[in-house]
Amino acid sequence: MQDELIKKGMQYLANTYNRFPIVITKGQGCWIWDLNGRRYLDFLAGISVCNLGHAHKNVIDSLVAQAEKLFHISNLFCIEPQIKAAELLCEHSFGDKVFFCNSGAEANEAAIKLARRYSWSRYGEGRYEIIVMENSFHGRTIATLSATGQPRFHEGFKPLLEGFRYCTFNDIEALKGLINEKTCAIMIELIQSEGGVYVADKEYMKEIRRLADERDILLIIDEIQTGMGRTGSFFGYEQFGIEPDIMTLAKALGNGFPVGAMITKDRIVGAFVPGTHASTFGGNPLAMSCVIATINTLIDDGIIKHCDGIGRYLYEGLMVLKKRFPFIVDVRGMGLILGIELSINGDEVLREFINEGVILNCTKGNILRLLPPLIITRDDVDLFLEIAERIFERHMKKQ
Ligand SMILES: *Cc1c(COP(=O)(O)O)cnc(C)c1O
Repeated sequence: MQDELIKKGMQYLANTYNRFPIVITKGQGCWIWDLNGRRYLDFLAGISVCNLGHAHKNVIDSLVAQAEKLFHISNLFCIEPQIKAAELLCEHSFGDKVFFCNSGAEANEAAIKLARRYSWSRYGEGRYEIIVMENSFHGRTIATLSATGQPRFHEGFKPLLEGFRYCTFNDIEALKGLINEKTCAIMIELIQSEGGVYVADKEYMKEIRRLADERDILLIIDEIQTGMGRTGSFFGYEQFGIEPDIMTLAKALGNGFPVGAMITKDRIVGAFVPGTHASTFGGNPLAMSCVIATINTLIDDGIIKHCDGIGRYLYEGLMVLKKRFPFIVDVRGMGLILGIELSINGDEVLREFINEGVILNCTKGNILRLLPPLIITRDDVDLFLEIAERIFERHMKKQ
């Protein structure tokens, strides 16, 4: 039955993903089940989306209660749960104001538009360049693709949007060399996750903040993947001793319900007035009910602190494996966004994990990426490490 469905998928779906040949039909906590009833330990969480795990009761209850009241009404009205969600996000971040949309790419689009318009409103035409990082990932729309510093994603889509300058990541001198009178913003991820789990240096981020302040250049931090507790703090920037001017969120914001947000300060958001930017579905009541439940649960249940502790426990376990297996080149990351860099074929190792009943991801062909739900327990981590050890031992014998 599963194989037939997979075949049908290949017949009818645009071939934009290398899909696992598995149809997942059910999830509960850190576990997911396929159509044949096989159970998998989920160390991917829908790519850092289901931070509270699958089928979290609070999110379901909030969504169902909202669904019974109102699905959609449009931003021509004030929307009760939207206001509540915005208040929660501002209370727990540097932000004063929130713009809601439906995905990460859209949140970054909003950030790019706001940065340009803020600069235009203060300095007039011509100051529109945004410095972005090599190896970054910001989305698949034309603007966010242009902001993405990876040529392999650009292939066949040129001409890209103008106004983006690519800079070496973690290199402050390179950045200084690119800043000029046209620069309006710097856009960066604190951890280049898709790019292979590379963490920004703390001093580097502080220096960027200082350079940006000096010249009224906006610092846009893409926290689409690092936000919502993933790094062991509510937002990643808290651990770098700085604040952004604009932050973008999506992925875990609604624990699986599609939603994005751009968060910023009053002095900046004034550049947006009615008619300058909009989204039909942005801030939709259903999405907002999930955002509220997700934020409240992250905080009330102490999940962010748990992520920090369990993340360290997993990291230490991986470091033990690194000492034993010479083909583990590096283990890096923060909280529960961890990368295992291998000197052997990562896609092959990934297939073995799936055969053993563990779902994770491989990026760049050799970097295993771990993004489990933040609610994983020590038992889940122990099980993961046991399976990893078994797989790596087999590879030792092969060599
Ligand atoms: C996933 C991701 C995006 C794109 O989000 P979509 O919802 O797929 O558009 C952008 N930036 C980062 C850092 C991401 O991880």
